[in-house]
Amino acid sequence: SSENPTVIIIGAGMSGIMAAKTLSERGINDFLILEASDRIGGRMLHTNFSGYVIEVGANWVEGVGGQQENPIWTLAKKYDLRVSYSDYNNISANTYNEEGELLQLSKTKPHFDLADASFNYSNALSFSLNAYSEEDVSIATAQRLFGVIPTSPLDMAIDYFYYDFEIAEPPRITSLKNVLPNPTFDYYGDSEYFVCDKRGYSYLPEQLAREFLKHDNEKFIDSRLKLQKVVRQIKYSPHGVHISTEDNSTYHASYAILSVSLGVLKSRLITFKPDLPYWKIKTFYQFDMSIYTKIFLKFPYKFWPTGPGTEFFLYADDKRGYYPFWQHLENEYPGANILFVTVTDDEARRIEQQSNKVTKEEIMEILKKLFGEGIPEAEDVLVPRWWKNRFYGGSYTNWPIGVSGADFDRMKVPVGPLYFTGEHTSEKFNGYVHGAYLAGIATAETLLDCINHGKCREVTSDGLP
Ligand code: FAD
Repeated sequence: SSENPTVIIIGAGMSGIMAAKTLSERGINDFLILEASDRIGGRMLHTNFSGYVIEVGANWVEGVGGQQENPIWTLAKKYDLRVSYSDYNNISANTYNEEGELLQLSKTKPHFDLADASFNYSNALSFSLNAYSEEDVSIATAQRLFGVIPTSPLDMAIDYFYYDFEIAEPPRITSLKNVLPNPTFDYYGDSEYFVCDKRGYSYLPEQLAREFLKHDNEKFIDSRLKLQKVVRQIKYSPHGVHISTEDNSTYHASYAILSVSLGVLKSRLITFKPDLPYWKIKTFYQFDMSIYTKIFLKFPYKFWPTGPGTEFFLYADDKRGYYPFWQHLENEYPGANILFVTVTDDEARRIEQQSNKVTKEEIMEILKKLFGEGIPEAEDVLVPRWWKNRFYGGSYTNWPIGVSGADFDRMKVPVGPLYFTGEHTSEKFNGYVHGAYLAGIATAETLLDCINHGKCREVTSDGLP
């Protein structure tokens, strides 16, 4: 019966859904999906903000227009997802200094050109380090070798735009060899499309789930999908897994696929009996769960520039990462009067811990510097808290310096009957929706090899795979 299935999948985000779909397509239909929240999608999450659907989590289809097609782009086209092309080219004309003055292009251009040259140098250095199997260095090391260390507010803001805005952590701690060139853009192309669809970005995993779960028009009616089931304990042995949830349900299966985020794996939300081996826990802590926070603000009217080439702007505070990257939603939702600002890492953590009122005051102070004292107060503010949310513990993973491909591999190596999937197990595309999608398929295939062909990856006696 479905209460004693072959496989239990923990989590119904993109990777968990793809793992279940793959199993189902390959003849394993006695699975159970246990999902903590009340919905499918995980970090693909939208909400209604002042009458507009905005994405609190994943927002872009990243990596479009290249030689290979990003599978998420294929789905976006198939389901006619409403998207808007993100043109970052004008950012050098939309950069404000710490006094709030819009800088002349003649002033900013040399700085952007230098950052570009440094970026190209870093990419080339990564190629040669990889080619000669040299030790990894941080992106900051590459910048030093290039000869330009970003220290002025303007250069730090540009640096933030080049790196943190994408990977949510600074060059100082980020692996050169694994993060540059970013495989997402290298494989799938440089373009990014911003999802602005009333059905939300999570419409994609929902549609994928509809291909194999029973549903009526509105909702899923398949007893194999159990929502609001928070897994708290996993007992495992070579004979199978016993899983207990917060509401004291228990489930038994031969195998489990864990698709929970690295943030959850690092936390104590789930207790393992016996505890996970040393090599596994160590691997979790070698990798970083970053924090990427989009703070949305609704105004009674707009006071920022609109029209072609104005969508994104940079603010160069003398504190690196202090409310640096801004976007308006006039292209996507004309008349919405919504702005949002992106913060990451330490700043995101700091902001999660303070009240929204204080955050709003900090933001208003900057906006007044940029656009004048007379601007109206924000009527509404939304501050996502991905780090504090016990079902996520952050936003997505970043590859830190010094973690080799073999170290990384241990992230997804099974522990007995426990299989691991999720964005963080995608070697090339960690941190992205397509990474989660491909990881779900790959993990299910690894498990199918074990179930169908007895090819189960064993762990040696010293605990190392
Ligand atoms: P998740 O979506 O986290 O799925 C895991 C599921 O497990 C969740 O549904 C969770 O509720 C559930 N769960 C957790 N704990 C338990 C438990 N104890 N018991 C049961 N269930 C549990 N990617 C892009 O490609 N483009 C972007 O623009 C982009 N921007 C992002 C912005 C933000 C703010 C965030 C947070 C992410 C962003 N990402 C982006 C990354 C992308 O969202 C993720 O890589 C992807 O959605 C992860 O899918 P997943 O299945 O690996 O994990």
